[in-house]
This record gives sequence, structure tokens and C-alpha cells, in this order.
Amino acid sequence: MEIVKKNLREIAEQLQKKEIKVQEVVQACFEQIERTEPKLNAFITLQDQEELLTQAKALDTTGPDSNQPLWGVPLGIKDVLTTQGIKTTCASKILSNFIPPYDAEVVSRLKRAGAIILGKQNMDEFAMGSSTENSAFGPTKNPWDLRRVPGGSSGGSAASVASCQCFAAIGTDTGGSIRQPACFCGLIGVKPSYGLVSRYGLIAYGSSFDQAGPLTRSVEDSALLMEIIAGFDPKDSTSLEVKDLNFTQNLKTLELSQITFGLPKEYFGEGLDPEVQAKIDQLIQNIESQNGKVVEVSLPHTEYAIAAYYILVMAEASSNLARFDGVRYGFRAKCKDLTEMYEQTRTQGFGQEVQRRIMLGTYVLSAGYYDAYYKKAAQVRRLLRNDFEKAFQECDCILAPVSPTPAFPLGQHTSDPLQMYLMDVYTISLNLAGLPGIALPCGLGEQTNLPIGLQIIAPYLEDQKLLQIAYQLEKLTPRLNYPPL
Ligand code: GLN
Repeated sequence: MEIVKKNLREIAEQLQKKEIKVQEVVQACFEQIERTEPKLNAFITLQDQEELLTQAKALDTTGPDSNQPLWGVPLGIKDVLTTQGIKTTCASKILSNFIPPYDAEVVSRLKRAGAIILGKQNMDEFAMGSSTENSAFGPTKNPWDLRRVPGGSSGGSAASVASCQCFAAIGTDTGGSIRQPACFCGLIGVKPSYGLVSRYGLIAYGSSFDQAGPLTRSVEDSALLMEIIAGFDPKDSTSLEVKDLNFTQNLKTLELSQITFGLPKEYFGEGLDPEVQAKIDQLIQNIESQNGKVVEVSLPHTEYAIAAYYILVMAEASSNLARFDGVRYGFRAKCKDLTEMYEQTRTQGFGQEVQRRIMLGTYVLSAGYYDAYYKKAAQVRRLLRNDFEKAFQECDCILAPVSPTPAFPLGQHTSDPLQMYLMDVYTISLNLAGLPGIALPCGLGEQTNLPIGLQIIAPYLEDQKLLQIAYQLEKLTPRLNYPPL
């Protein structure tokens, strides 16, 4: 247990210094998985233990490589990122037997840095959801309270990192899917600026929103992973060539007194759980007592964000998911003719929420409705981006809640999709605007004893500064006790 409780940074250092063997670390993770997994259901596919131990033994024989910062460190990967030779299901029946022939760029980078992939983690089907209840492989439970959801869609990854089954994980965030589960499970979760991390091998949901990012137990660990996964990739046409990316070197140099924090007035007030509000208020007081400046800002188009996001993301999903037709890969229903094969494959292969979104997405793109829905939503997207640009003239970063409530009970929102969509009110705007955001735990709620998170939003491509700020705020918040079970 002592081994798995360590931060990624600590274990990586110990492995480099040969103070601990890769075999011991891998073994410790498997023991923790064996102990907690029956309660959590965090993994869809777990690598074979004997095989990984043999691999670990070989690594111990050759010894550490100082060019590999993650040498020997076991990590988890959300099951939406392709892994060569390891089943990648997107938590869907339609891909339940899909073994990709190649690694996602993020996965290749982690492997090149020496990481060991423990397995593929549970999620909402095709990343559509906020609770990991939309998984064809059953829901994941929240390790802080097994009757509650871990958040979603990267809920398996979050539950797994919080319960110390692995040292960190890579999730994806289209409208909050890294930050909200990080918040519900008491972790740090980074959604990078759009274009900073390659989407090659990330099975597309909303291509103009999707970004991969880390889920970790410390800001330093997130910085370490960002350093490895961020950067130009010619295989992704939206990948950016950003110079001088360095997340770890200057992580600790910023001072709170140099930062102006903006509080959007539209984000605080009606609908926000008093416990969440109280924790954020407490942190703001701490910031001010350390000479951080806090000002009120406005994001006036916030009330249109949910509608715009769900129109655009469903439109993109309906087009992206057209490729799952039973012809080239994945599940195929047994039928007598081609049309029936398409129909039955998609009817039986996709879950209810995915079908709902494909239908709504097709509708908003159809002739006669395109202007009223898709085009209008695209215009709102621009207005939201303008809101942020204006707000950032008055502050360096924005502080916001991650979710209106702490982790909610399993089943609470499953029969009412609209209620589930409303849970994303604080996370989706920055995906619409392409901005970077981070979720940071700021303690356990006094009444619920559940983790409460805070979100920091930075201007476009200021991801390094975002982590510097998060590092400072992490010092003002109590460290949570992992694993909670
Ligand atoms: N809950 C949001 C949705 O269902 C966000 C999901 C995500 O970021 N992948 O679209």
C-alpha cells in the first residue's frame, strides 16, 4: 500500500535511482487493483499480470534510462485512446472486440517516455455522459462513496487514480470529461488548449472540442505528463506548433501576489450547491490573505452555453459515428441484406444515449434546420469566446466551480438526460472557446465528506501559466488522503 500511495513524480524518481524495482511497483499496483476493483469497476481491460511482470523483470535487468522520465511507471488509459494490440472499446458494444493496429500519439509518447500501460479504463460510451453510467460494461463507482458516481466521462480513470490503482491516467475532455471526474474523485485534471495535445488515435466524439489530458494526485504530476504529451504532431491536422513548451521547469516560480483572479458573476449564485460555494469562498479568502488580487468579471453569454454545446457536439458526433456501420470493424449484427445489417448493427451496437445524440445531431444538421440550430450555435460559440477574451483583459485567470454539486448518487440523473446535461454548465464554455482549464481539489465538504473541486481557466495557450497558478493554489488547499478505500 505504501508504494501505490506515492505520487507519480516520487515513484519515477525512486525507479530512476534504483531504490525500488519495476517488478515491485507493478506488483503493488496489481495488488491494489485486486483489492479495490471488485468495488469500483474502473477498468474495462486489464493487461495480463504475468506478462507485465515479465516485462518489468526485463526492465529491472537492463536498468533505468535517464532519457525516459516515466521509466517503469504504471499508468492507466481511458478506453477512447487506441492502443496497439490492446482492445479499445469506447465502452461500447459496437467496438467490444476491436483491437487497434496502432497507438494513439499520446500513448506512443507515454511509452517512449518509459511508462507501462496497465490497462484501459471505463468511461461513458463514446465519452457521452457525465457519470460513467452510460458504459456498456457497467458503471464505475466513486471510491469516496461507492453509492455515488465518479463523474464522467473519464470516470474509470478518475476512480482508478484516486484509489491508487495506478499513478496517473490519461483521460479526454470534450465538455468537462477530465475536469468533472477529477473534481468528483478529488484529483487534478487538466484540459489543455485545443490543438496542444495530438488527437491522433483519440476516437472522435466532437472533433472541434476533444482534447486528451492528465488526471493526477498532484499538480506537479500533471505538469510532468503535460510535458510528455503536449507538442506538435503532423498526424493531427489541428495540432499546433508551439515553441518553448516547458511545464516543469518554471512550475514553482510564480507568486500569488503577481496574479489577478477573475470571478465570473454568472457562475456564482442560483443552482450552485452551498457546500461548493463555501469551499470556494474559503479558498478565495486564502488567496486574498496571500496578496492575490480577486476581481469580478462577466461572461454574459453563459446562459446559452449548454444549448450551443449540445447542438454542436451532437452534430459532430452524428457525423463522426457514421463510420461504425458493421462493415470494416467492430460488431456486426447478423442480417439478410445490407440495409438491415446497417440498421441492426447500429441499433444493437450503440447504447441509448449515443443513439439519442446521433438522431439529434442529424436533425440539427438537416436541410431546413441547419440555420436555426447549427449555425446559431456556432455563432454563440464565437460570442462565448469573445466573452472570455474580454474578461481576460481584467484578469490573468478565471476561478469557477467545476460542477454545481459534489458527486451525485448513482441513478439520480439517468432517467432525465437534460438534468445530466445541466451538470456541465461550468465546464463546457471553455471547450467551446478552446481554452485550457484545470480542476483542483480544495478539500472535503463538511457535510457530505465528498471532494469539492475548483476550476482555473486560462487564456488560449497559456497552459504553462495555468499549471503555475494551480501549483500555488494547491499549497493553499489541504492534501486529500488517497486512497479513500
Ligand atoms: N458531459 C459532456 C457530454 O456528455 C462532456 C463529455 C466529455 O467531455 N467527453 O458531452
